[in-house]
Amino acid sequence: PLDGLADPSLLKTDALINGQWVAGANRFDVHDPATGQKLADVANLGATDAEAAIAAANAAWSGWRRLGAKARSQLLRKWFDLLMANQDDLARLMTAEQGKPLAEAKGEVAYGASFVEWFAEQAKRVNGETLPHFDESRRQLVLKQPIGVCAAITPWNFPLAMITRKVAPALAAGCPVVIKPAELTPLTALAAAELAIRAGIPAGVLNVVTADSDNSIAVGKALCASDVVRHLSFTGSTEVGRILMAQCAPTVKKLSLELGGNAPFIVFDDADIDSAVEGAFASKYRNAGQTCVCTNRIYVQDGVYDEFVQKFAARVRKAKVGNGFEPGVDQGPLIEEAAVAKVERHVQDALSKGGRVVTGGRRLAGQFFEPTVVADATSDMLCAREETFGPFAPVFRFKTEGEAITAANATESGLASYFYSRDVGRIFRVGEALEYGMVGVNTGLISMEHVPFGGVKQSGLGREGSEHGIEEYVELKYLCLGDI
Ligand code: ADP
Repeated sequence: PLDGLADPSLLKTDALINGQWVAGANRFDVHDPATGQKLADVANLGATDAEAAIAAANAAWSGWRRLGAKARSQLLRKWFDLLMANQDDLARLMTAEQGKPLAEAKGEVAYGASFVEWFAEQAKRVNGETLPHFDESRRQLVLKQPIGVCAAITPWNFPLAMITRKVAPALAAGCPVVIKPAELTPLTALAAAELAIRAGIPAGVLNVVTADSDNSIAVGKALCASDVVRHLSFTGSTEVGRILMAQCAPTVKKLSLELGGNAPFIVFDDADIDSAVEGAFASKYRNAGQTCVCTNRIYVQDGVYDEFVQKFAARVRKAKVGNGFEPGVDQGPLIEEAAVAKVERHVQDALSKGGRVVTGGRRLAGQFFEPTVVADATSDMLCAREETFGPFAPVFRFKTEGEAITAANATESGLASYFYSRDVGRIFRVGEALEYGMVGVNTGLISMEHVPFGGVKQSGLGREGSEHGIEEYVELKYLCLGDI
């Protein structure tokens, strides 16, 4: 699948430290999840290399912050232009290693690049404050300064966007970064880094430490233990988020965490059902259900339950499953065997507790799973509590608004939620009552670069994107001038 690259030199397999490509003593394989075929072997670095990357970032820091906001903005803008100019190649790399349909991969390149564009603009607007004086003899100011060397540990489901959403605001604020990309999808990350070099981002400002799953633990420990690293941004599972948080306690690092979700999708009696069907389909099945904002549980009010289930299943039956490079495919493979097994476990559990398959329900050859809808779901099922992260939609029935809100909030997660209603009073009541960082009302797609993305409860800390995203990478310094 990589033979079709317009620019084959974007296929990088070495790590990047201090502007140098590092082959490392060991390598690990990257596979195509659609075929199982080996795509490349990539540098498998460890803790010592991570420390070298931290040192390189630290050495590059003063030059990068002194460059000034406008020059940093211009370099980020060039990086954005190059990401977009190479959209097709980046998408090919992504589909090859991650499996998402090519059209979706192109969409992610545009989405990922949009954070670079946005933070190139925001770089120029990290304004401090001048406070009104309380006392004639003093003046007080607040400076906003870059926090220092930042680390980013990113997942495989958005191989580009989860990197740019962290790296672009860090670079804009004047911080250098060490990235540890997911071991399943390092090729997109390395190609993006190559484009950053071509854009003129100086050596050491952006480093990529690739590692397999065992070495990722060691690299993670080195990043957390370092007192030079002042900030860690992580997107991934809640379980690993807790480990990293504990590992960062000794050095009291600032943390941004974007962890698991368990998104409810509520359809009220007064909803536009056709629109709700489209919204639920888009939210549930994109990236084969492997996003942290994907709908996990669908709650439908009694009066429209049967109509919704029938129309939703009809929509899901039309989805084409296959290799992401095939034209017209809506759903690619799951990322790995364990992901397929989890979906199968959730479906079997639902069926054993009274669930009724309306469409799908079975695994296909390789790492593919049928887009599945199960009706008559109940709160004792695994899918009610755990994030399935796959193409399985359980549909629950409810009677009252209060009941739906209680069920939706009955989880430790609080990332994305969705509901469909045409009643303006209900929209405010439910929108305010949902314990989530993000609420989609009459839409199933909510992510964009200018909105604050993030969760409450155990879904994480901090916000990415928007004007707030850069604050994670900035420290406030209060300056008090006396004797005036
Ligand atoms: P996912 O559910 O996306 O597979 P993970 O949390 O397992 O989520 O992985 C997300 C990222 O975290 C990957 O880059 C992975 O290598 C890294 N990772 C996993 N475990 C650890 C760990 N113990 N320490 C540091 N990084 C880790």
